[in-house]
Parts: sequence; C-alpha cells; structure tokens
Amino acid sequence: MRVLYVITEIGKQSLSKPFTYLYDGHDQVDVRYRVMVPFGPREIMGFVTRVVETNKTKKELEEETGMPLRYISRVIDREPLLDDELMKLATAVADYYMAPLISVLQAMLPKSLAPRRGALKGPKEAYEKWVRLLKDEEKGLTPKQVECVRLLKRSGEVLKKEASTPAVVRALLDKGILEQFDKPRSRYVIPEAEREVAHEPTLDQRNAIEEILSSSHSIVLLQGVTGSGKTEVYLRLSEHYLQEGKNVLMLVPEISLTPVMVEYFSRRFGRVIAILHSGLTPAEKYDEYQRIKRGEARIVVGARSAIFAPLENIGLIVIDEEHVDSYKQSTAPFYHARETAIMRSKINGAKVVLGSATPSLETKARAMRGIYGYASLPRRISGQGLPTTTIVDMRSQESKGSVKHIFSKQLIEKIGEKIGKQEQVILLLNRRGYSSYITCEKCGYVFECPDCGSPLTYHYEDQMLKCHHCDFILYFPKVCPQCGSSSLARVGFGTERVMKEIADLFPSARAARLDSDAGKVAKNVASLTKAFKNHEYDILVGTEMIAKGHDFPLVTLVGDVLADIGLNLSTYRASERTFNLIAQAVGRSGRAKRKGEALIQTYSPSHYAIVYGAKQDYEAFFRREMMARKTFGYPPYYFLIEVRFLADKEEKAARAAADFKRVALLQGFKDLEIVGPGTPFLSFFQGKYRRTLLFKYKDGTLLRRFLRQEVERISGKGGVEAEIEVDPLDS
Ligand code: ADP
Ligand code: ZN
Ligand code: ZN
Repeated sequence: MRVLYVITEIGKQSLSKPFTYLYDGHDQVDVRYRVMVPFGPREIMGFVTRVVETNKTKKELEEETGMPLRYISRVIDREPLLDDELMKLATAVADYYMAPLISVLQAMLPKSLAPRRGALKGPKEAYEKWVRLLKDEEKGLTPKQVECVRLLKRSGEVLKKEASTPAVVRALLDKGILEQFDKPRSRYVIPEAEREVAHEPTLDQRNAIEEILSSSHSIVLLQGVTGSGKTEVYLRLSEHYLQEGKNVLMLVPEISLTPVMVEYFSRRFGRVIAILHSGLTPAEKYDEYQRIKRGEARIVVGARSAIFAPLENIGLIVIDEEHVDSYKQSTAPFYHARETAIMRSKINGAKVVLGSATPSLETKARAMRGIYGYASLPRRISGQGLPTTTIVDMRSQESKGSVKHIFSKQLIEKIGEKIGKQEQVILLLNRRGYSSYITCEKCGYVFECPDCGSPLTYHYEDQMLKCHHCDFILYFPKVCPQCGSSSLARVGFGTERVMKEIADLFPSARAARLDSDAGKVAKNVASLTKAFKNHEYDILVGTEMIAKGHDFPLVTLVGDVLADIGLNLSTYRASERTFNLIAQAVGRSGRAKRKGEALIQTYSPSHYAIVYGAKQDYEAFFRREMMARKTFGYPPYYFLIEVRFLADKEEKAARAAADFKRVALLQGFKDLEIVGPGTPFLSFFQGKYRRTLLFKYKDGTLLRRFLRQEVERISGKGGVEAEIEVDPLDS
C-alpha cells in the first residue's frame, strides 16, 4: 500500500495543502506524477508531492489519521511530469509568489500536460476553427453579437477564438448568421531562413560581450540605447554558449515580437530553434514542448511562459526589453519572467542577460549597487545620433491654431514635409477608439459603464460605445437617456479620430491604424506591419503596440499626439511607463541612414517623465524617479505585496480587509506600512466585490510567513476568498 500526498487542480489558497490518498495498484507512481482522485462527488486531477510506502491497512491508516481515506482513481503519467530542475523552479516560484504550487504548475506546462482535468482531452488535431459571415444581419441581436458581426464584415474569415466570446459565437452559429469551418494548419514550422553572414561586431559590442562573459556576476544588465545593436550581442553570446555545449533561452516581451527574433536566430543557427508562447495551438505547443524535452532544440525563443521551457543544460538566459510589464502574468501565480529567470539561474547556474534601453528601476538600482553586472552600448550602430526631439506645449496660443487641439501646427507641418520626401511617419496615441467619452450638451449626462462606472468610449468602426476596463458594450444611442436631447458631444479623442483628421488634412496620404482593436485579429497585425515596412503606407497611427521592437528604416518622424495620457493613472509606475513609452517611440525614428525627428505634444511640458523621455535621458530620469520612489515608499526602496479580498457582498469584502489589517498591525512588524482597505478600480468585477490592502515593507522574512498563513486561514471562510499578489505593478 502506498500513501500519496496530492495537491489538487483547485488552485485556491484555502485548498493549497496536500490531501492524503491511498494506492494499492501496480502502476509506477511517484512524486511529480499526475493522478485522478475522487474529490467530494467529483473526480479531479492531482499532482503527487510525496509518497510513503506502508504495510498498514486502510483501516489502520484511517485510525491513525482520524479521518476516512479514499483511493486514487488512476495514475496518468508513465514518467515524472517535470525534471528535477523544473520542479525546484516551480517550488521556488510558488514560495516567492506565495502562490499555490498547483497554479505554478498550470502556468508552467502546456494545456495537455498541466495538472488539470481538461488535459485529458489531449492536444487537438492540427487544425484550427475559423468562422465567417453567412448572413449580414443585425436584427434582434445583442450589442456583443452585433460587434462580432461587424468585426467579421471588416476582417473576413477570422479564427473562432478571435471573433468574440465562445457564448457569442455559439449564439450566432445557432442563428445561422455565422458558419464555422476547419482550416488545416500545418504544425508550426520555422521558416527555412537563409543563413546569413554575421555582422562584424563593433567595438562597443565587443566590449559588452567581453564584459558579460568575464563578469563574475551571473546576472548582467545590458543597457543599450535604441538601435545600438543589442540583438547582435545576444546572437554572439548565444554562439559562445552553444560552442561550449550549452543551450540558450531567449525571451521577448510579447508574442508579436517572437517571429522577428526567431528569424534572427534561425538565420544564424539553422534549425535548432524551438518556439514557445501562448499563441501556438495546443497541438503546436505540445509538439514544441516534446521536441525541447527530447533535446532536439538548442535554443528556445518565446514570450513570458517560455521561461519554464523544459530545456536542459542552459548556459544563457536573455530577457530582451526586461523593463516591459507584460513579463508579469496578471493572473495567479502572478509571476514575473525576469525574477523567475533569476531563480532558474540560481538552480542551474546559467548566465542571465537583462537587455533594455530603459531598464526598470529595480534592475538599474541593483546594477548600480553591484548586485548585478553591467554592460552598455551607448551609441547607435548607424552612427546617427538619437532623433532630434521637440516638446510642443499644447497650452500655448501658438499651437492652438491647430485642428481641434489634436495636431499642433508644428506637427501638421512636419508630417507634410516628411510625406513629401517619401519618408514615413509614426503617430502614437495611447488611446483606442474615436472619442474618450460621450456627453449630452444639454443636461451634461455622461454615458458610463453600468458594470464598473468608467466612461464609455465611442468606437466609430462599429458604431458602439465600449468600456475599456471590462467588456461592456452598448449601441451608440441617438438621444440622451436623461433629457431626450439629440445633441450628444463626442469629447476627447483616440486613434480612430486621429485617422479621420489625417484623412481630412492629407487626403492623398496612405494611413493605417494599429491598436488592440485592429490587432484583435492576429493576421491583420502581421500583414499591417509588413505592409508598412514595404512602404505601402506613409503614416502608421497606433497605441503602444507600435512603439516596441520594430525596425522601420524609412521612419524619420515620430509624433506623440498626447504624451500625458498615462501620467494620471493610479499606479506608482505611471511616470516610468510614460517615460518608457516616449523613449521607445522616439527610438523608432531615424534608425537607418536618415536622421530622425520626434515631436511630443503635451499639456504638461515640464513634467520630468516627458522632458527626459523626449531627450531619451535615461540617467536623469532614473535619478529623479528614484527620489520619488524613496519619498513615497515604493520599489526599489520598499517591496510591495497586495492582498485582495473578494466576496459576493460588498460589506463582507470590506470587513474581511479591515479585520485582516487589524490583525496584521497587532504583529508589530518593523518598517511596514499598510495602505487601505482600498477600493480597486474595478471594485465589482466578475460577480465579486473587491477590496485591497497594500503592504509596503523592507524586510519580508516574518511578514511573508504571516501573510501566507493568514490568507490561508481566512480564505474560503464566510464567502470570502483572499488572493495574494507579490510585486504588483498596478498599485
Ligand atoms: P536595438 O535592439 O539595440 O534597438 P538592433 O539590435 O535592432 O538594436 O540593431 C539595430 C540595427 O543595427 C539592426 O538593423 C541591425 O541589423 C544593425 N546592426 C547590429 N549590429 C551591427 C553591426 N555590428 N554591424 C552592422 N550593423 C549592425
Ligand atoms: Zn441630456
Ligand atoms: Zn466597465
């Protein structure tokens, strides 16, 4: 008889302790195996964390433990699910993020291998489900269904999962408005890129490589201005480790940036590359995962979750654009790929290179204190300086000769000049939609989201009002619901409006828009960026999606239409994000032979994030922002942990938070500030009321243990669930 300690697929804090089961079958079963277990009336999946052999009978064991014991239903795996390194990593991540181990395993593994009942269905065949419009009909449909119909009208055939929610698509299929079909999708094959002749590294690049390889630090910050050739450094370093017989893990911040990186690597190293990110189909992901496990890949390129790749013998882990927030998962276990990489390198001894033009404050501060090594690329490869930037004060009279306060005279002139010279322009505006909100001119009524209270944004493309914080949608109303007046004003502006003004001002210019609305359909993003690179468009208008990573050689003007947008967000990172976005966007200009320019329009021309962003003066920004972080008690001076309380009644959530705070204060921890109970922006979301507590601390040894125990203790009791997020970015 064997006693199995099993954590189950239910990832709640309150259930994160192992359950005890029995097994007297003959299958091989050990730690790191998945098993099916009875759980109440149901059968669910579990993961074995400990096995004890015993000669005792069920009865004896039950008497010993004082509770009834059940047998597992069956063993699923024939070999351990994870190797030793990944198991250690999973445990380290669960520990640091105070998350249930099961949630880490679920984030770590492809769907068909995760400890989750759904995994039993296995990877799907290698085809994808697509939908297309059969009837162009909107009568009797809900706004969400209409939104889907209009999307298909614009985009033609799209992937079923991109069309809308499963429920909406199902309803439209049932009504005969959509039809579904399968498209065979050959499993992902890395394009047979031509091998290239490698660039001769510049002196700066050689120094950086030398510095990284000879550094006694296992973690090194590579700080290189935009266009300084960081990629070539990654490639050279990879070559070095491959020659030593080691393998390489290369992370990029977003799925959309993987193809470019894969191309660089396959041109240099041929077919030893595997790709891992959440955009692959389950079958592709399974295939790539197995290929890596079998040792057929020497290099893995991917987004956040690729940090968990089952690659053995890793010599180098590169985190490109390490400052980007998408490296942090926004659901449990809330892990950050950069911190996870560092944990992994502690286990396997790999070198970690953190690359960025604008490092996160945490990373830069650690490099300055000698905790990390440091290498830099201070110049652009092209020999061109950084773009010349001008800040345009939108408050001044002069710039107000402009079109409804969207474009200043200066920006209009510059756009005209560049297009005239057959050069390209990028216009950044970090807000999608047409106007920011709709108000009644007669009575002042503002259309707000009934679910979360945010003003609704008007979308011209499908004539709807949408909430940008939850998924509420409404038809664009003809009259004010309060006074019946039909004079509704569209206030503020987004990317769609910029497109309209461009069309009015430069009727012959070819303009395209790229934001998360246009980008909802992945094929559109790929074809759009390619077309822009081929100069099929003169102007690209978009949100932060266009600011990152891309190399468009003909772009010589970047216009930031309204740089202030992110400044007032209620997160301690508002300035850092604003600075990064400006610096990255400006960095898209003048990357090749011709000198670049940038124009930053703002109503806060003296705000340091904007001033230093425009100058791309990272060091000055760093010093100034560090002062603010110190004054207000934020990272990297203080650590943060947020505890969230979710309940079906508002009072319950509020009371749980207040009680929790009281108990925490009684412990008398040193250097601890507890902010809250606070009401998060989405105070009612997915059927739950929410309250938060933010813990700011310097030394977490005792505090962390307290939080973990206390959250486990209260979670699941009295209709309240508590959730911990370590190192939150949005607080
Ligand atoms: P970054 O990531 O630092 O912004 P990239 O890696 O995109 O910069 O490099 C900018 C450009 O410089 C690319 O077009 C790249 O091909 C080119 N490049 C990089 N290294 C060299 C080199 N040693 N010689 C010539 N061109 C180079
Ligand atoms: Zn009104
Ligand atoms: Zn909403």
